Amino acid sequence: MTLAKTRIALSCGIVVAGILALSPSPTSSAFAKATADRQAPSPGSWFKGNLHTHTLNSDGDSTPDDVVRWYREHGYNFVTITDHNYLTSVDGLNALHGANDKFLVMKGEELTDRFGDKPLHVNAFEPSAFVHPTGGSSVLDGVQKMVDAIRGVRGVPSINHPNFGWAISADELLQVQRTRLFEVYNGHPTVNNLGGGGVPGLEEVWDRLLSSGKLIYDIAVDDAHYFKRPEDKAAPRPGQAWVFVRAARLDSRALLEALERGDFYGSTGVELQSIQSSSTALTVTIKKQASSKYRVQFIGRQGRVLSEATESPATYAFKGDEGYVRAKVMESNGAQAWIQPVPIGSSAPK
Ligand SMILES: [Zn+2]
Ligand SMILES: [Zn+2]
Repeated sequence: MTLAKTRIALSCGIVVAGILALSPSPTSSAFAKATADRQAPSPGSWFKGNLHTHTLNSDGDSTPDDVVRWYREHGYNFVTITDHNYLTSVDGLNALHGANDKFLVMKGEELTDRFGDKPLHVNAFEPSAFVHPTGGSSVLDGVQKMVDAIRGVRGVPSINHPNFGWAISADELLQVQRTRLFEVYNGHPTVNNLGGGGVPGLEEVWDRLLSSGKLIYDIAVDDAHYFKRPEDKAAPRPGQAWVFVRAARLDSRALLEALERGDFYGSTGVELQSIQSSSTALTVTIKKQASSKYRVQFIGRQGRVLSEATESPATYAFKGDEGYVRAKVMESNGAQAWIQPVPIGSSAPK
């Protein structure tokens, strides 16, 4: 993926008659600047952000200032610094780079532990204090203890790259309590997103969890470590994957509440014009790139493709017994977007 592809415009949007409409690219028009100048984000603004990034405070290659600057200069609205077992202060970073309704640095920590040879990593978003991993008697116990510790300091937990080190199985994820978020796509090159050797890929795991009754949302992140090696595809670099979050305003509590209610989508390069969900249908409208073509799959229980569309907007009308319906957009050069599941009917995940 080229860096150019990461220069997706920020996406302050507005709600129009229940449709989440995104504004035109502000990088390319005077209209956008005028719009940005007069338009405070309304309920329903979309914000682009990366929720998983490292700095010199753990095993990254750049200072927090350089890391934040990269995201600020590449069209993001927020970034969360998540160093291994280290809570990087963001006050000074926000004083330098923050801008009301435009850019925010969120506090975070990647709780990092092991059980035997299994690496257990759980992100904490906006914890009120540093959290020490405390170990556990099993993979599940170790992960649950980290989740509970994060909740204990009013942070929001997200389980990271379950297939890294083939550490956390679908069965174990199914049993973890008090979390709604896990990484289905992590941009680090050695985290085994796609599975293999009999271990399911994380999108399949997601469908297994949803089909088993667990309502959980898919996070897509960079897990960037190296900002000084942009040509090295073997290095975990920035600009691989991100989320667009719909929130009333650009502040950490609003963003985190939106994440926990599934009001966001993950992307590796596809941007959406709107997502419309009602009691009867789910409609996805793509912000198309001129030279690309698209497929939209609507997916239900056990990962079954319920329908596929090649036009945009793409709509799926609920039948009532699907359990859940989620959408996935596939762009002709490999970029994707994952829209969160809509629970449907008596067997809906909770
Ligand atoms: Zn990790
Ligand atoms: Zn990481």
